[in-house]
Amino acid sequence: VVVAARISRSFGATRVLDGVDLTVAKGEVVALLGGSGSGKSTLLRILAGLDPEAGGESTVPARRAVVFQEHRLLPWKRVVDNVGLGIRDPGARSADALAEVGLADRARAWPAELSGGQAQRVAFARALAREPEVLLLDEPFGALDALTRLRMQELFGRLRARHGFAALLVTHDVDEALLLSDRALVLAGGRIAAEVPVGLPYPRVPDAPGFARLRRRL
Ligand code: ATP
Ligand code: MG
Repeated sequence: VVVAARISRSFGATRVLDGVDLTVAKGEVVALLGGSGSGKSTLLRILAGLDPEAGGESTVPARRAVVFQEHRLLPWKRVVDNVGLGIRDPGARSADALAEVGLADRARAWPAELSGGQAQRVAFARALAREPEVLLLDEPFGALDALTRLRMQELFGRLRARHGFAALLVTHDVDEALLLSDRALVLAGGRIAAEVPVGLPYPRVPDAPGFARLRRRL
């Protein structure tokens, strides 16, 4: 569903992206790894259609949704109105999306009344309400504590199984790439320097008895 060819981008004299080619197939989750400053966010913004200055060509479905590291909710709108923002006839869809991330009871809350993890779940609900064919995710769990991150990673797996969306997941967490993706790309030197198949069956949460016991109590 995503095809990008020869994507390039410079800032001043610095060439950050220098001919990136990538594809994401229907329903596929592709992780994009790379060091800080390697251009991951720049590439994601380009694919999201947020950077008219970039070179190269990309086709990304209109039904795409972006989730950033920070939730970017509008503070003057209630949770449910953030989720329904810009979609036609948002009523049931917003409510369903909030229920899917476990926040049906916070629909009338203000963003400032949410914890970081809750706000990020609302950001996911806002993305889901658009019934995306592809999700573009820029370190969506990066700002969360380890436990909340683990829960969000599990939630992502469940939502994926239910909705079948494709995703490009920017992360610098190798474990997260292994946990969530079908294929991992490494961005270095302005190009895709490596590609690693992952392709483990879901769910990928460790099932050792001690781990399961601990999780039940959290
Ligand atoms: P991180 O893992 O730290 O988020 P990243 O791989 O997402 O890093 P980018 O944010 O894409 O990296 O930035 C890549 C390079 O492009 C950096 O050197 C950054 O300084 C530069 N850059 C990004 N946006 C701009 C901008 N608007 N103006 C100037 N330079 C920029
Ligand atoms: Mg970044």
